[in-house]
Amino acid sequence: MTLSSSDPAWFPLAVRLDDVPVLVVGGGEVAVNKVRLLLAHRARISVIATRLVADMRRWVEDGVLTHIAQDASDAAVRAAIPGCRLVYVATDDRALNRRIAAIAHDLNVLACAVDDPQPSSFITPAQVHRGVVRIAISTGGAAPVLARRLREQVEATIPDGTGALAGFMQAERERVGAACPDIVRRRRVWEAFLDGQGASAARAGDMARARDVLDALLSGDGPGGEVWLVGAGPGDPDLLTLRALHMMQNADCVLYDQLLSPDLLDRVRRDAELVFVGKRRNRHTMPQEEINAELVRRARAGQRVLRLKGGDPFVFGRGGEEIEALLHSRIPFQVVPGITAANGCAAYAGIPLTHRDCAQACMFVTGHARADGVLDLPWANMARPGQTIVIYMGVAALPVLCAELARHGLPDDWPAAIVERGTRPDQRVFTGTLADLPGLARENGVGSPALIIVGQVVRHRVVSPSIAAPSIASSSIASPHDASRTDP
Ligand code: SAH
Repeated sequence: MTLSSSDPAWFPLAVRLDDVPVLVVGGGEVAVNKVRLLLAHRARISVIATRLVADMRRWVEDGVLTHIAQDASDAAVRAAIPGCRLVYVATDDRALNRRIAAIAHDLNVLACAVDDPQPSSFITPAQVHRGVVRIAISTGGAAPVLARRLREQVEATIPDGTGALAGFMQAERERVGAACPDIVRRRRVWEAFLDGQGASAARAGDMARARDVLDALLSGDGPGGEVWLVGAGPGDPDLLTLRALHMMQNADCVLYDQLLSPDLLDRVRRDAELVFVGKRRNRHTMPQEEINAELVRRARAGQRVLRLKGGDPFVFGRGGEEIEALLHSRIPFQVVPGITAANGCAAYAGIPLTHRDCAQACMFVTGHARADGVLDLPWANMARPGQTIVIYMGVAALPVLCAELARHGLPDDWPAAIVERGTRPDQRVFTGTLADLPGLARENGVGSPALIIVGQVVRHRVVSPSIAAPSIASSSIASPHDASRTDP
């Protein structure tokens, strides 16, 4: 079996090594570090080597290490491996290490050739530990120095008392399980404990106080259900707010629609229930009243319900209707703003929304026609120089939008742009004029979600080489994804 260092997946496992036979091949400095690590996990270690460094000799004298005083020949290794769970190969001869790793593979025992992922069937990640808590960091052997850097960063963020806290929670686990058999409520109790005074007390070693706080949580009704109305931004998960992320990690269920990319949903806690409330197969959206009723029903059942919305919940997101329904049903709620598509698309497309020279105002409008097909917009207010118009949900009506703006006084060659799938890896930007943008969009098959930006700001578009693809030579030209015809 050959493994290559570019194999995409190293599956992380935590292995019990207490009293488990492990073979180490090599008796020098590299091996000594691995033996030290293994001893801390109380492995039963044998070392094959003719010579041992001082530390190793001491461990042999102390009886914690078995020395097989032989050359690392194929025969010696073959004889020593059976019965071992892991093999560390740590001689200074790379070819020898690889040969021994191959023998271990033959015998179906996991082997790690130190600092050489290619022949290894396991690797040892960098670790941060606090008591029973262990955080392993691996780059799959690709960049050990980076792994160490990341470890330093994690070290700095995990409080010292985390081990004590985990120890407390472990000790109380059974009692809490018995007092609180319902798994959802139990999780809530623990989360309330972690968010409150109890966790700080346990971290500081005041276990009596921690127990008091826990008891109070167990005897109370527990925190009730609530709804969090959260904006997830326009698509790039890096544009989530810290608060949105925190809520995504703590919700019991998530109601989402088609604007939410899989990348964003990946950030949701693994065991939260994901409920799609967007367009169904018959292409009809779940009626708003049904969504409202579902939010209320779930909160009443005690769940923390995350209503995750593309962009910002209060910008063409029907967030207003949802909170009215919640208020009416006396369900507690929180609203968390998100980066709206206008901000995200403008920034990622390099188009400022206002500009001292040409745009002193910016207007957000919807291009979604009424049920009777009429596009009822304040045309006269929109068709003004000196401002930017951002049109949401306007792809279908783009020809009408452009024609009406021209009919109400904007020149045919007034700049306009359309940003499709803004902030996502496959973002496309087309720039043109009121006269030709509909044709450009049609020819290029622009689909939803897309945002239309109308105004002189489009002429000020600048694509930074660092945002766009690397082949950009000058900072004033468009990216290769960009079918722009009228580069400003
Ligand atoms: N609440 C959202 C808007 C919801 S309306 C917000 O604040 O952004 C849905 C419309 O938003 C889409 O039809 C499209 O016009 C726009 N939109 C949302 N995400 C977008 C994206 N990533 N790229 C372009 N337009 C987007």
